[in-house]
Amino acid sequence: PYDVLVVGGGPAGASAAIYAARKGIRTGIVAERFGGQVMDTMGIENFISVKKTEGPKLVASLEEHVKDYGIDVMNLVRARSLKKKDLVELELDNGAVLKSKTVILSTGARWRNVGVPGEAEFKNKGVAYCPHCDGPLFEGKRVAVIGGGNSGVEAAIDLAGIVNHVTVFEYMPELKADAVLQERLNSLPNVTVVKNAQTKEITGTDKVNGITYIDRETEEEKHVELEGVFVQIGLVPNTDWLGDDVERTRMGEIVVDKHGATNIPGVFAAGDCTDSAYKQIIISMGSGATAALGAFDYLIRN
Ligand code: FAD
Repeated sequence: PYDVLVVGGGPAGASAAIYAARKGIRTGIVAERFGGQVMDTMGIENFISVKKTEGPKLVASLEEHVKDYGIDVMNLVRARSLKKKDLVELELDNGAVLKSKTVILSTGARWRNVGVPGEAEFKNKGVAYCPHCDGPLFEGKRVAVIGGGNSGVEAAIDLAGIVNHVTVFEYMPELKADAVLQERLNSLPNVTVVKNAQTKEITGTDKVNGITYIDRETEEEKHVELEGVFVQIGLVPNTDWLGDDVERTRMGEIVVDKHGATNIPGVFAAGDCTDSAYKQIIISMGSGATAALGAFDYLIRN
């Protein structure tokens, strides 16, 4: 069996595997797609000590670093279920079962899409999901935020300080964000809130040039010209496959303690699939290191 088996090959998983392997213990990674969300990222400017890089380039460095440690990397393999017996048993999509003394879950998350024409076509060409990451790319420009929940309104407040103008589109008749956030939003001179708005299409040619929506009250179709669209309708953790044993929040995020431990002894978790407060590359790498050290502590005590 493995000592540490990491499920997920994003920054959290890569970091966890390297930290584990550096203890001289048998370590493996199972990943549906090595690199995770970073593979879909264009410019990265907030990975501290690297002024500017691109997703695939950072993934290549991650892979090179992982390969330096003799870690078993099983790429393009999906985990299907997890059972805790004497050992933790991980069943894969191809029917194989891997056994390990400890498992680190780092299956990440995905942004919920609005699913309108233009969203996929203009991804990274004006359609963005992460204001911390991509906000500065829209300095002085006009952007939309789709979604009036807490993350949408936080994004709008954040962006209003950088961009020229922000339009918030909310599907329902009222914003769902906390009152303090709404007050702050309403105090900003360069923000417009459109309620009852059903996004119909993100328009553009080679990049985004606007958004078409239906005013649900009047059923009128309207168009707003802008250069960027931030989709903020939720981040979905990739944890459905886990069954009910691993404790999760209402949102499906795995609950971890300060050692990265879950409710199941020997099962740890890190990165965007957990209930960590913020979802970023540097944060997921930190939590991957924490989970690996937590797993190592568990191994020497059991
Ligand atoms: P992920 O990167 O999501 O990796 C999850 C891994 O698990 C993948 O290998 C996946 O294939 C695998 N997996 C999932 N389910 C299974 C399964 N059942 N079995 C096996 N493997 C599985 N952050 C920044 O700090 N700076 C940025 O500039 C930035 N820009 C971003 C731009 C975009 C477009 C996106 C989408 C995100 C961006 N982020 C950015 C956020 C950052 O990418 C994430 O916070 C980070 O990748 C999370 O790492 P992770 O390892 O927890 O999860």
